[in-house]
Amino acid sequence: MADTTFLNWPFFEDHHRALAADLEDWCKNNLPVDHSDIDEACKQLVAKMGAAGWLTYSAIDPDDPKPLDVRALCIIRETLARHDGLADFAFAMQGLGTGAISLFGTKDQQEWLHKTRAGEALSAFALSEPRSGSDVANMDMSAVREGDDYILNGEKTWISNGGIADLYCVFARTGEAPGARGLSAFLVPADAPGLTIAERLEVIAPHPLATLSFKDVRIPVSSLIGEPGQGFKLSMSVLDVFRSTVGAAALGFARRALDESLDRVQNRELFGAPLFDLQMVQGHIADMALDVDAAALLVYRAAWTKDQGAARVTREAAMAKLYATDRAQDVIDKAVQIHGGDGVRKGSVVEGLYREIRALRIYEGASDVQKVVIARQALGA
Ligand SMILES: Cc1cc2nc3c(=O)[nH]c(=O)nc-3n(C[C@H](O)[C@H](O)[C@H](O)COP(=O)(O)OP(=O)(O)OC[C@H]3O[C@@H](n4cnc5c(N)ncnc54)[C@H](O)[C@@H]3O)c2cc1C
Repeated sequence: MADTTFLNWPFFEDHHRALAADLEDWCKNNLPVDHSDIDEACKQLVAKMGAAGWLTYSAIDPDDPKPLDVRALCIIRETLARHDGLADFAFAMQGLGTGAISLFGTKDQQEWLHKTRAGEALSAFALSEPRSGSDVANMDMSAVREGDDYILNGEKTWISNGGIADLYCVFARTGEAPGARGLSAFLVPADAPGLTIAERLEVIAPHPLATLSFKDVRIPVSSLIGEPGQGFKLSMSVLDVFRSTVGAAALGFARRALDESLDRVQNRELFGAPLFDLQMVQGHIADMALDVDAAALLVYRAAWTKDQGAARVTREAAMAKLYATDRAQDVIDKAVQIHGGDGVRKGSVVEGLYREIRALRIYEGASDVQKVVIARQALGA
């Protein structure tokens, strides 16, 4: 049983504690799902989470708009990640893919949220391109205004939910100014003529991922999310909300690794005594527990600060994401070590966590990029 004493911290309100307990029960009864067909598993997870009401946290209610509850998002991602990484992924994409619509969408665009919150439509966030991952301002994809339409041409890659999403939040160059000041965001339905899946991508912890091709994709001007030329700012505002939730997912993986290790060290006998009796093993456990608590403090500090109404939490979210993902990598590595041969056996829990954690240090701003952000923020302060 994972340590839940952090829920007593002053960052939380009683409804957060109730959410954590209810979701824990749901996860025990519903997760993990069968992963043999990843696309089907994700669709099933979204439908299940929609029916259970968990996806109502992923986007605003268009009929009763209130700010997203970032602490709730973090609790949900941490809990899901502890039970099933794919469930966390499926939940996260419903939020990231619709984040721009929640924050800046028109009433018509927000109609989609009824479906994504109910688990009846899947969403995706399409920012990265072959030439511009970290270097977003270098984006090639173009959106050219023609009468009442925009025409989109270019390629997006590494798009989570690519191939199974019903709608894409797509960033493209509209050219109001050079670099980052000439980008805009668009809502593009998956069935828009000219939008195709160029390639499905496989990674070490399988989840749906694709390269998308846009060839003369014509969409109405009403598909523009926010103002023309404001796409970069908009994407950063979305990441400002969701970046600390990546830290929360890492925290969930780390807590699971610690739980598995605590179980192992008490039940595995070595040299006539439980593994835990070896002081070097106790040292590993102490380091893991310390990393988990320190990561949780940073994640929930960022989430609480955003929920208090801070316009931006760039520094807090960058610190939370950097620290929680980097330390989770180390916690999981120690868990693999403690498990010996079983730690690298295909299909074991810690082997799965070892593969699952790695990409979190790369996407939504690589660890190195977070360091640049934190250093600049420190200088500014
Ligand atoms: C599993 C997975 C899922 C993803 N899902 C999505 C998605 O849904 N939507 C989407 O748009 N994108 C997605 N991405 C793309 C992801 O955001 C990019 O991979 C990431 O931004 C890095 O870009 P890149 O791969 O082009 O690497 P590059 O930009 O080439 O960077 C390579 C490395 O250079 C280093 N680096 C970069 N910038 C700096 C710097 N300023 N200072 C120091 N070092 C630096 C970092 O170590 C970085 O990892 C996903 C990626 C993965 C792996």
